[in-house]
Amino acid sequence: MELNRREFMTVAGLGAGAVVAGMTGLAGAQGSGSAMGSGSRATGGISECLKANADYAKNFTLGHLAIPPARKLAVVACMDARLTIEPMLGLKTGEAHIIRNAGGVVSEDALRSLIISHHLLGTQEFMIINHTDCGMLTFKDEELRAKLQRQTKTAAVAPLLFHAFGNLEENVRQQIQKVKSHPWIPKNIPVRGFVYDVKTGKLKEVSV
Ligand SMILES: [Zn+2]
Repeated sequence: MELNRREFMTVAGLGAGAVVAGMTGLAGAQGSGSAMGSGSRATGGISECLKANADYAKNFTLGHLAIPPARKLAVVACMDARLTIEPMLGLKTGEAHIIRNAGGVVSEDALRSLIISHHLLGTQEFMIINHTDCGMLTFKDEELRAKLQRQTKTAAVAPLLFHAFGNLEENVRQQIQKVKSHPWIPKNIPVRGFVYDVKTGKLKEVSV
């Protein structure tokens, strides 16, 4: 119980830090004429990303790609910064839809994307990826909701759920189930779920 609470606080603290860093980065970019040289503090934030994009665009050769993913694959994965989906799966730009959110949850919005992915853009296989050491294992929806209400002194209607979970493999099974049971997703589409190990880089399939 003690451990859970501490881990929860860590996650909540990280969240707040990310918001602050993002806002600072944006302010820096707007505030100074030359955003590139805005002080000695290495933020790794938006300004740095824009600098990297300028280099990226200089050597850009992918302007010919079509809208439908070439490998006819859609992936739902956690947003965790340690997961870089394309190299993990040997995918290149233009080959797959990658839908990411906290937890790799088949939320209403992920379903929306999967339905569009299949019906409008021709994907024929769905892959769900959760991972070890996921932050979503370290708190409970009610705890986070109560904490945010205390901090802000405001209740909020949305998000209705944070989708925190306690059992990784069970969560993957539930996400598969949510996809498979949707009436607008054809029964013949393979939906497979995996746990990615952040220590080894390996994917392990979750049996259904
Ligand atoms: Zn995660």
